Amino acid sequence: MSDFPTRLPYVQAHAIVDAVARRSPLPVEQLSLTEAIGRIAAEDVVATIDLPSFDNSAMDGFAFRHADLAAASASGLVIAGTQFAGRDLQLAVGKGEAIRITTGAPLPAGADAVVIREMTRVDGARLFIEGDVRQGAHIRREGEDVRAGDLVIRSGSSLGAARLSLAASLGVSRVAASRRPTVAVFTTGDELVEPGLPLRRGEIHDSNRTLLMGLLRNEGLQPVAWPILPDDPARMAAALQDAASSFDLVITCGAVSAGEKDFIPGLLQSDGAVHFWKVMMKPGMPLLFGRLGGAHVLGLPGNPVSVLATWLTLGRALVDGMQGRAEPRLRWFAQLTSAFDKRHARREFLRGRLQPGDDAILRVAPEPADGSHRLAGAARSDVLIVLPEDERLFDAGAVVQVLPY
Ligand code: AMP
Ligand code: MG
Repeated sequence: MSDFPTRLPYVQAHAIVDAVARRSPLPVEQLSLTEAIGRIAAEDVVATIDLPSFDNSAMDGFAFRHADLAAASASGLVIAGTQFAGRDLQLAVGKGEAIRITTGAPLPAGADAVVIREMTRVDGARLFIEGDVRQGAHIRREGEDVRAGDLVIRSGSSLGAARLSLAASLGVSRVAASRRPTVAVFTTGDELVEPGLPLRRGEIHDSNRTLLMGLLRNEGLQPVAWPILPDDPARMAAALQDAASSFDLVITCGAVSAGEKDFIPGLLQSDGAVHFWKVMMKPGMPLLFGRLGGAHVLGLPGNPVSVLATWLTLGRALVDGMQGRAEPRLRWFAQLTSAFDKRHARREFLRGRLQPGDDAILRVAPEPADGSHRLAGAARSDVLIVLPEDERLFDAGAVVQVLPY
C-alpha cells in the first residue's frame, strides 16, 4: 500500500523536491572569500564605499587641463610632478602644467584629461602632446562602478569569482554562505565489480560511481562513495541507515524499479519516508525521493543515462534548494539539426552534441544511440536535450532547451 504520489509529472516532482529542500535549509557559515567560491550567499552584501573610491587615471600617461591642449601641442606643458598609483600626494595641475601619472593613480586636482604616454613626447621637463585628446579622456570617476549603499550580492545568488572579487574590492573579507550538503554515494547490485578487477560472465564494472562522483564534484560537492552494496536488503538497510545518520544527502543508484531485487523503495517506506516514487520522465522514470533519519534520500535508477538525467535535473534542484539558491540557473537553447519523434507523453532527456556555427546559432545533433544504457552515446555528447511532455514531433530547426554536462 502506498500513501505517496507516484508517476508524477516532471514539474510536480520538481516542485516537491524544491519545497522539501527549502523546508530544512543547511546552516550558514562565515567564509573567507576563497573558501566561498561556488557557494550560495546567505546574506545580501551592500557596498559601504564607492567604486572607484576616488577619481583616477585609466592609463599610464600625463594628467593635464584639457583647455591647455592647443598649447600642449604647440609649445608644450611643464611637467610639474609625478603621481604613481599608491598614496595620494594631493598634487594639483596648474595652467600650462602636466603631472606624470600611472594607471590607477589618484587624479591630481584641476586635471580633466589624461593623455596616454604613447601620444606624447618629452623634451627635458616639457611635455608635448601629439594628437587629439577629448575632455575627460582616460579618467575613471569616483562611484561610476558602484555607489555606497548599492546591493552588490543578493542573498540566494551563487558566489562566482567575479562576485567574490567585487566583495574584495569593497573591502569585505568574509561572506555568509550556506554550508555545502554532505553527500554519501551508493552503487548497488550483485552484478557490479570495481573497475580494475576482472569480470566473470554476467558481471559489469561499476560505472555509475565514477559518473556520479564526477557530476557531484562538478557542482563543488565533496561526495563520499561507499563500497558497492550487494542486493541484500539487510545489508542495504544497515549501510543506508549508517550514512543517513551522518550525511545530509544519501544518493543511491540502482534497485529502485520493479525488479525482485529492487529493495530501496520498500526500505524507505518501512524505515523512513517516501515523498514520491516514479516520475514521468525518460530516462529516469523510477526515480525515488524520500527521507531516512535526518537525511534526504535520492534513489536514482541504475541505468547510466538515467543517473545523468535525474542528477542534472532533480538532483541538482535538491542541492540548490538545500543551499537556499534563489538565482535561477542559466538556461541554454539550441536548434535541433534533425527531426525527432518522441512517441510518448513523458518529458524526454535526449543526449546531444553541440555544434557551434560561424553564424552564431547553436545547434544540437541528437545522439542516435538513445538507450538509457548507452554510455558511449552519452560520452560522445555534451548536453541533454529537453523535450517537453506536450509535444511529440520535433522538426529539424526546432529550438530546444539543452542541459550541458
Ligand atoms: P537496476 O535498477 O538496479 O535494475 O539497474 C538497472 C540497470 O543499470 C541494470 O542493467 C544494472 O546492471 C545497471 N546498473 C546498476 N548500477 C550500475 C552501476 N553502478 N554501474 C553501471 N551500471 C549499473
Ligand atoms: Mg540492481
